[in-house]
Amino acid sequence: MIDFSLTPEQQTLVELARDFSTNEISPVALEYDRDGTPPEDIMRKAKDLGLLYTNIPEAYGGSGMDYVTHYIVTEALNYDCCAIGQMIGISHLSSAAILLGGAEEQKKKFLGPMCESHRSACYCLTETGAGSDAGAMKTTAARKGDTYVVNGSKCYITNGAKSDLLCLFATTDPSRGVKGISCFAVPRDTPGISVGRIEDKMGHRALTVAEIHFDDVELGAENLIGGEGQGFKLAMQALDRGRVNVTAISAAVMQKALDESVRWAREREQFGQPIGNFQGVHFMLADMNALIMASRGMYLQAGWMLDRDRRCSVEAAAAKCFATDAAMKVTTDAVQILAGSGYMKGTVVEKLMRDAKLLQIFEGTNQINRVVSGRGLLAGKSVLF
Ligand SMILES: Cc1cc2nc3c(=O)[nH]c(=O)nc-3n(C[C@H](O)[C@H](O)[C@H](O)COP(=O)(O)OP(=O)(O)OC[C@H]3O[C@@H](n4cnc5c(N)ncnc54)[C@H](O)[C@@H]3O)c2cc1C
Repeated sequence: MIDFSLTPEQQTLVELARDFSTNEISPVALEYDRDGTPPEDIMRKAKDLGLLYTNIPEAYGGSGMDYVTHYIVTEALNYDCCAIGQMIGISHLSSAAILLGGAEEQKKKFLGPMCESHRSACYCLTETGAGSDAGAMKTTAARKGDTYVVNGSKCYITNGAKSDLLCLFATTDPSRGVKGISCFAVPRDTPGISVGRIEDKMGHRALTVAEIHFDDVELGAENLIGGEGQGFKLAMQALDRGRVNVTAISAAVMQKALDESVRWAREREQFGQPIGNFQGVHFMLADMNALIMASRGMYLQAGWMLDRDRRCSVEAAAAKCFATDAAMKVTTDAVQILAGSGYMKGTVVEKLMRDAKLLQIFEGTNQINRVVSGRGLLAGKSVLF
């Protein structure tokens, strides 16, 4: 029943993604990290190869991969730079609510045009006063006849500056708390949308993160996804998928850190021999590898559940916490193995360590993911067999 072999089609896709990472991302990863510029050219090339909208069904213009295939491809794409990989993969999170809650004609109307361009989508949930407590959002979508008028601001929005499509969460009934939150698909050229501050970040530097303002943005009923009050549930279901994605990204970050560490342990000599001869180094490499194996297994399990339409909030939250905490440890240990050479700015492992930190923060901090996981366990929601 448990089979880790890839189908010929999966093998071809993983090799395509690996080659893309090696040839298109690796040579420029440190440059993008230094300059903090958005990787538009790379997104354009990824789109041409069918690597930008991997999980979106072919009927709406995507590559139609199942979840397991999408996550394996995600790991391959994030190996050389998870910031660029994350920009390539952002549509996985930002299109999920539309795929889950949208009517057929809405999916065609909003995802179709997006898939023709390389600018992808963004997921607009967080606000300055509503981070972990996303339900406390203040952005309103007030009903006015047949239309909704949106006012408010979102912050820290990945790909928020340029994406063609916005998946927006706003409250249509503030008196109902999270049950008053609704989801809207919003094309970028809708009047009243403006981009505010672009953040300057510690890591994930090629990932563009922006404030977005909505001033009297008028939307029609066709923009409402899944009915009034369905937004928070859709946002959380999208995050289940996003958290598995972050687990796959963490596996990529860790694998790169381990490969760099093994290379250095073979090359670097001290006390007249390679440092890889010392047992203290063996133990670090062995622990790094064990964490990667476990994280990979976790995203494969959650992906397998999603492919069978099984709810996996507990598993996704657990995987996200485990793999991102592991990524922080593994990248810190990689810097330890490279020591002085790894601590210097502009080296691969110091970038990995800065990049890993964000994985513990976004798509729900690891504290919030433990809350999700713990509450789900108490509600009896984790049953694999
Ligand atoms: C680079 C980057 C990209 C992002 N991209 C997006 C995006 O595309 N779309 C989007 O909507 N958002 C995005 N975010 C926002 C991200 O999801 C939030 O930063 C995150 O949810 C945490 O919110 P906060 O930063 O306001 O922290 P806070 O909620 O203020 O949390 C501060 C601290 O308190 C802890 N805490 C809070 N509540 C609890 C609790 N109940 N129990 C235990 N501990 C708690 C947190 O774990 C954290 O340690 C991004 C953030 C960053 C940094």
